[in-house]
Amino acid sequence: MRIRPPFAILLLAAGLLAAPPAAVVHGGAGSPRARMDGTDPAAAKALATLKAGGSALDGALAGVVVLEDDPRFNAGTGANIRLDGRTIQMDAACMDGATGGYGAVAAIERVRNPVLVARKVMDTPHLLIVGEGATRFARAMGFPDYDPTCAENKARFQRVQAILKGSDPRQIEAWKRYDWKKAWNFPTPLKEALGPSDTVGCVTRDAKGNFAAAISTGGTTITFYGRVGDVPMFGAGIYAGPKGAVACTGNGEDIIKHLVAKTTYDLLARGLPAQEAVDRALRAFPPTIDLGLVAVGPSTTGGGCNYSAEKKAFVTDYRRQMAWSVAQ
Ligand code: ASP
Repeated sequence: MRIRPPFAILLLAAGLLAAPPAAVVHGGAGSPRARMDGTDPAAAKALATLKAGGSALDGALAGVVVLEDDPRFNAGTGANIRLDGRTIQMDAACMDGATGGYGAVAAIERVRNPVLVARKVMDTPHLLIVGEGATRFARAMGFPDYDPTCAENKARFQRVQAILKGSDPRQIEAWKRYDWKKAWNFPTPLKEALGPSDTVGCVTRDAKGNFAAAISTGGTTITFYGRVGDVPMFGAGIYAGPKGAVACTGNGEDIIKHLVAKTTYDLLARGLPAQEAVDRALRAFPPTIDLGLVAVGPSTTGGGCNYSAEKKAFVTDYRRQMAWSVAQ
């Protein structure tokens, strides 16, 4: 039966009709708007998966895989090279809002798509597997050895060395006060080094009105061996439930302290439209620490970031920042 638009709106408002599938994707708090040429196809892929009958979780994973395979983003191929100039460690997570299922990996090395390994963790009795255990788990699940190093992350690493010398105002403050060379914990000796951030994330609503979120990163700019951010921390980097899904990006340490994904989800659960929930989360966050997020609710979508990659400055016109794309 075809439901005519005015009735559809009433039924949607009453929660009696699932809104059409939707996907919202982000390319990281540091991503310029021009990089929507990467987030648009990722959102389109997620939506196509949903329209082909895939679950919200299938859609979210499909969106993140596109971004992990795009070397311009700091996830999967192209993930940040850490301080030693050679190590790549990645974090990823996914959550199914319909079942509450959650899976994550942290500091995993040498896999092409960490988010797909996180999906496998969801099937185990665990929530999170880290380090060498995560890499070995990936092999046991059939994921082959893969080196995510490429021209893009090598070039980024060179810029990082310049950042270390003090020219980027954005993430360096905490490190100016910290003698990181004394804490060098890489297997290889200290040379001169450091790296910019950008997580990728995708939230979805499927045809049944279920929600999911998925996320993947190579970590923040200046990153020790074994450092883990918000991405695999339950309720911090992503959250999905019966009322929506949220995926974050930005300085992981502060995202964890503010439990941004779950806090934003709680706004969706109270009935706020997704864009309003995103705006409130951004307004509640310290204005000089980078945060971006995307969200989807029962009939709404939203996204934004407090940092402008173009202006290299913190801003309050959140919706017009960061590469983020909606497909519905
Ligand atoms: N949130 C990520 C982390 O802290 C980095 C990012 O989003 O850019 O690992």
